[in-house]
Amino acid sequence: MDVRALLGLKALDDVRSALFVQPHPDDNEVGAGGTMAKLAAQGCRVVAVTVTDGRYGAVGPVQPADLARRRQEELAAACAALGIREHIEFGFEDLGSYTEMDVIEKLVPVLLDIRPEVVVTVDPWTPYEAHPDHVKTGRAVAACAIRLASLTVPQTLPAYVPPMFAFYASAYPNTAVDVTDHWHAKIRAIEAHASQFGTREWPMLKAYLEHQARAAAERFLDAPDGRLAESFKLLSPRQLHFFPDAMTS
Ligand SMILES: [Zn+2]
Repeated sequence: MDVRALLGLKALDDVRSALFVQPHPDDNEVGAGGTMAKLAAQGCRVVAVTVTDGRYGAVGPVQPADLARRRQEELAAACAALGIREHIEFGFEDLGSYTEMDVIEKLVPVLLDIRPEVVVTVDPWTPYEAHPDHVKTGRAVAACAIRLASLTVPQTLPAYVPPMFAFYASAYPNTAVDVTDHWHAKIRAIEAHASQFGTREWPMLKAYLEHQARAAAERFLDAPDGRLAESFKLLSPRQLHFFPDAMTS
């Protein structure tokens, strides 16, 4: 039985609209920047959402408000590098006391407006993920599957629930997108976040990202030689509730 087809899941790079939701102003780029660039180049409508302002994403003599402003500029440059023209900032304070429900309340109208074929975010269930912004963001995105399928959200017909959810930085990936031709754009987008990656460790991290991308290609692509891929956990909304097999699907 083709469970994926049964659940209405198709290839992640075969969609016409996609919403990428990141906790901080660089997570999408690191986790899925190649996929974003590929989709945008194919004419897919790609919208990025950033949940927090990233004001505490550094150590050293910098004021949080100044860092938040700088990161806005870096994010704009990163979006340009990926060919992304639509970007929404929720503006919650980095590491702040906002709740998962606060994020859901902001996300639901965005989802109903854009009605993307896939929503992509960070995997909040990756073991050892300790960052509260990542956990809250990933869980809020997934919880939108439940909210939008309920009467808590008034909708005009036809009702909308995102047909696919994809999580990057997942310990349980089940698919990958070949991003070889867009790897350079991904790296340029990450490097646009100079406050985060303008460090001595960046060359090492870059090599690690490439190693991961080769491993993802090896595992998921039919012809992996010389290819680079980004891996995801792709699930249908049905698999986000009362579905123990989701972890191994
Ligand atoms: Zn982050």
